[in-house]
Amino acid sequence: MTKDSTDQLYEMDSGLISDALKIRFFPHVNHEGQGARLIDTEGRQYLDFSAGWAVANTGYSHPHVKAAVIAQLQRATFGGLLSSMHQPALLLAEKLVKLVPGDFHKKVWYGLSGSDASEAAGRLLHLATGKRRMVSFIGAYHGSTAASMSMSAHVAWTQFIGGGHVTKIPYPHPYRCPFGDGISGEDCAVKVIRYLEDYIFQTICPPQDVAGIIVEAVQSDGGDIVPPPNFLPMLEELCRRYGIYLIVDEVKVGMGRTGEWFAFQHSGITPDMVIMGKALGGGLPLSAIVARKEILDVGPALALFTTAGNALSCTAGLATIEAIQQDGLVDNARKVGTYLHDRLAALQDKHPLIGNVRGLGLIQGVELVRNRTTKEPASSETAKVVFRAFELGLIVFYAGMFSNVIEITPPLLLTELDAEEGVAILDQAISDVEAGRVSDTAVARYAGW
Ligand code: PMP
Repeated sequence: MTKDSTDQLYEMDSGLISDALKIRFFPHVNHEGQGARLIDTEGRQYLDFSAGWAVANTGYSHPHVKAAVIAQLQRATFGGLLSSMHQPALLLAEKLVKLVPGDFHKKVWYGLSGSDASEAAGRLLHLATGKRRMVSFIGAYHGSTAASMSMSAHVAWTQFIGGGHVTKIPYPHPYRCPFGDGISGEDCAVKVIRYLEDYIFQTICPPQDVAGIIVEAVQSDGGDIVPPPNFLPMLEELCRRYGIYLIVDEVKVGMGRTGEWFAFQHSGITPDMVIMGKALGGGLPLSAIVARKEILDVGPALALFTTAGNALSCTAGLATIEAIQQDGLVDNARKVGTYLHDRLAALQDKHPLIGNVRGLGLIQGVELVRNRTTKEPASSETAKVVFRAFELGLIVFYAGMFSNVIEITPPLLLTELDAEEGVAILDQAISDVEAGRVSDTAVARYAGW
């Protein structure tokens, strides 16, 4: 029996694949992809506003990436980096140290996922500085290994008690400032920095014990929050003053997504460590840390994975960067991102459910609320909108600490026409939910997160 109907495959999936790795919103089957379009096993086509959680920055089946991977596969299906070296890892490292700003000796560490890179960053930092503590931000998602979970403070991880060595402080959220309503984004950022310096550093977390502060330049899984422009420069200044390393996690928003190679570049800061993953390998498992030599060279055999930095993934990474450069995708992300943002913002006049639209380039968040004054999160409505959009042919996910932010992270080759098409579907999906046309039972199977 050929198993190609969605129903059959979902039955197999429920019987065979662990729920622990699933964040399901609707019954989508991955089968084929071209550009920003996906086709399932029944031949249904979808416009993709997710890039599979910000992985497919060059879209699906980019000819340059595909050709490079196939050529490498012909040479060998595997080439490791631990006890040999290979050209793809070196050529990619050469590119990465040039892409990351900073007038100091930088080196590259390779892993397989954003999680292992965050974990390695923390471990090497502690060894390099001899300091035990770190600071991170509430809402952060740095990974799903024990140490990277300790750095995270995402609602998805609340059932796990993180490491007490990481102190979590509020992230400056212009729409929901944790210090009170009606505070501007810039004032909120000042309050966050004051809270850290005047309270946290004076009490439970002495700055001389802090090895590093890890931050997302756009807090993505926490709700696609773009911090106010004064935030990262103030954080950098504080780090310099106390001799604390600044680590920026660009796993989700790096590789051109925001209209710069890295989201922190919008703020003009120079991190000591930059963490990359997701889009870096063009879909193949690859993560990297680009950081000061003094941190990454603290000793041999301290943070390693047997297949990390394998030749195939590095080849895909190199080709992905080349494709982004050749196709001008960083500029496209900025241009189409602005267009998309304006189209989404225009929906606010029509839909009372939309409380806030925010983003940078091709990461946009549409936050749904039941009441614009109280900002009560419209979580179940969000699950329904995302489900209905899927039925109408659009793949889009949701994120956020209240599960109420529609997250839009399409492939960077999205055109304005694509953006228009996706926004029209979202418009319809929101109308359908507002009119009560999507039932609770329709979405009950999909736990989301
Ligand atoms: N950092 C950030 C900012 C992320 O968004 C994620 C994944 N959502 C990770 C790290 C972890 O990456 P991975 O799932 O590849 O381990």
